Amino acid sequence: MYNIFPLIRFPLNSAPSFGLWKVNNDTCADQVYNAIRTGYRLLDGACDYGNEKEAGEGVARAIKDGLVKREDLFIVSKLWNSFHDKEVVEKTAKKQLSDWGVDYFDLFIIHFPISLKYVDPSVRYPPGWKDENDKFTLGKATIQETWTEMEKLVQKGLAKSIGISNFSAQLIMDLLRYAKIPPATLQIEHHPYLVQAGLVKYAQENDITVTAYSSLGPASFLELDMKDAHRAAPLLDHATVKTIASKHGRTPAQVLLRWATQRGIAVIPKSNNQGRLQQNLEVTGWDLEPDDLRAISALDQGLRFNDPLAVSAAFRFLNRSL
Ligand code: NAP
Repeated sequence: MYNIFPLIRFPLNSAPSFGLWKVNNDTCADQVYNAIRTGYRLLDGACDYGNEKEAGEGVARAIKDGLVKREDLFIVSKLWNSFHDKEVVEKTAKKQLSDWGVDYFDLFIIHFPISLKYVDPSVRYPPGWKDENDKFTLGKATIQETWTEMEKLVQKGLAKSIGISNFSAQLIMDLLRYAKIPPATLQIEHHPYLVQAGLVKYAQENDITVTAYSSLGPASFLELDMKDAHRAAPLLDHATVKTIASKHGRTPAQVLLRWATQRGIAVIPKSNNQGRLQQNLEVTGWDLEPDDLRAISALDQGLRFNDPLAVSAAFRFLNRSL
């Protein structure tokens, strides 16, 4: 039964991809349209980003104007934590497809290996980390239960491929024991302060394409005013990165993105700015030297900004004090 469905490979070598987290609702449709016009073909969305309808509007306009056909795009979305129960996976995927205005996702990902209590979309959507009583409440679904439902989405043509995000190597080892369709991709926080070399190697050895998110490190989390992001030295201003950038006549962001792509890791940068959107596209077709790669990897501090344990600890504290 292993691999009976054709596995659509994540288009690692195609044009880089546009991430939709923190893209504002009022500008999202225009930004998606503009990203497609600029050359982006992979759109990385999620229920949790709360902008799937607007992203879909941008896609529909781009198709209507003849910029692309649906099959030219690679649309990625993610299953949120409160929709892990087997009864709701398909219904949720269908709602998300309807929001996007498409009839299949190229890739549908389990956003976090964390099952939260179901929150009906009529109560709150996107639901975030809290239940209907504003508490952090774990759900009961196991990863196996959820993955089995994800596989059914492939069987029913609702997703061409399925993947995982924020999984550890240990969880992947377990998943691969029962998966009939192995995950096409693993999406993880990955930048020079969080290299995760062992996890990347394990995934790649198991033919799971690694996709990096927050490739520019603290930059993304400054927007959220996170303390750790303010405390960390900005990677875009880091002397090592800047020296390598000027040696190659590239920007620090391009160096950070190329450091990932050259090591076989796909990137999905997000930018609201046209100039940066354009430069983030140019991250293949030129090479860093082995010493550059090593110098950037040596910046590793094991520094994770997107940490669900911090969220759950904060909510446990709040739950207690309510
Ligand atoms: P990112 O792409 O690493 O960084 C975005 C930040 O960097 C923004 O502040 C952006 O500002 C700035 N920026 C972008 N390009 C730049 C450039 N060339 N030079 C200087 N600054 C630049 O971070 P991210 O948004 O956290 O991650 C990317 C995508 O990954 C998300 O949009 C989302 O799709 C996905 N993601 C997934 C998960 C998950 O749990 N699976 C978690 C987080 C993110 P401007 O907009 O002003 O340019």
